Amino acid sequence: MLPVDLPDTVREALLAPLVDHHCNGVRRDELSRSQFELLIGDGGGPAPPGTTHFDTPFGAAVRRWCAPVLGLAPHVTPSVYLSRRAELGACEVNRRLLRAAGVAAFLVDTGPESGELLSAAEMGRHADAAADEIVRIEQIEHDVAEMARIAVDYLDSLAEELVARAARAVGMNTVIAHRCGLDFDPSRPSRGSVIAAANRRLSDPKERLTDPVLLRHLLWTAVDVARERGLPLQFHTGAGDADVEPHRADPARMTGFIKALQPIGVPVVLLHCYPFHRQAAHLAALFPHVYVDVGQALARTAAGAWRIMDEVLELAPFHKQLFSSDCSGVAESCHLGAVYFRRSLGVALKPRVDAGEWTAADAARVAHMVGSGNARRIYRL
Ligand SMILES: [Zn+2]
Repeated sequence: MLPVDLPDTVREALLAPLVDHHCNGVRRDELSRSQFELLIGDGGGPAPPGTTHFDTPFGAAVRRWCAPVLGLAPHVTPSVYLSRRAELGACEVNRRLLRAAGVAAFLVDTGPESGELLSAAEMGRHADAAADEIVRIEQIEHDVAEMARIAVDYLDSLAEELVARAARAVGMNTVIAHRCGLDFDPSRPSRGSVIAAANRRLSDPKERLTDPVLLRHLLWTAVDVARERGLPLQFHTGAGDADVEPHRADPARMTGFIKALQPIGVPVVLLHCYPFHRQAAHLAALFPHVYVDVGQALARTAAGAWRIMDEVLELAPFHKQLFSSDCSGVAESCHLGAVYFRRSLGVALKPRVDAGEWTAADAARVAHMVGSGNARRIYRL
């Protein structure tokens, strides 16, 4: 599993159970080849005619690392892999791949709610792991908007619902990066502007919320709840959604908001970050309440993942880095997230130990911190 020779203590630390602090439910139903390919592709669309999403770093990694978990030889063809997947059935495939990831606790983003996806509790049961929820504030807003009739009720219900859902969760998250960009005005919007925006919102409550005034109001209301309950607030950043221009998902663009939260003491967790992971690492180094992970970038870049890990390690304090698989849709993404986290961190640690910059004990301690300890500390697990 580890591609480099490391002292035993470091190997053990890298192979120890992880805390996956950001993942999504995986599909519970049987998937056709085209459905599976849609879920492993980056852009959410099918591969061009005559090509396949298996011809990507992620697709090659599925054949290399997931095939043996399903009882196949490494590198089998996509069609052999998918026939075996169908033969075992979705439940057994999910059980095998989620267990093989070696995750002790999942923090599941319950934003993309759908009956087709395993719930947080089901993810835990399939993987024989603990599971907790991270609530997505834009999903809560959507549920409230559909029920409310007048602006004042909408705003009251929004605050109440955030409190109620947060009571069952270990953190909250926001996709404001993909709704209006991270270069939003960091101040709290005025009551008058919020009521005017709420009236506009209720004329079309089924649409995704993209109004910057209401998104800021939602965010600041969530900050109040997070402060009250001592919860971290996760921000989706970097690659992941084509709805706004990619450069507006650069976390450095929300530096004003990060500064505004510093005296409040709510931890800001920057998710995904890639390809802005160096900016994110810089923010984590500058601000005591900012944390960083690179999520699915490791599985998506596969054999090249160690470079990303190395660049985060070169700048972000070690007590600010977290592991997440950002698993979504298929359990392969969970297993590969864990595989490439362990492999890339091992490759990045080796030259530090070999050069005498770090002791083996230092490297083992950092592997434990990033793999599970930091998440246990900030989410109070
Ligand atoms: Zn994510």
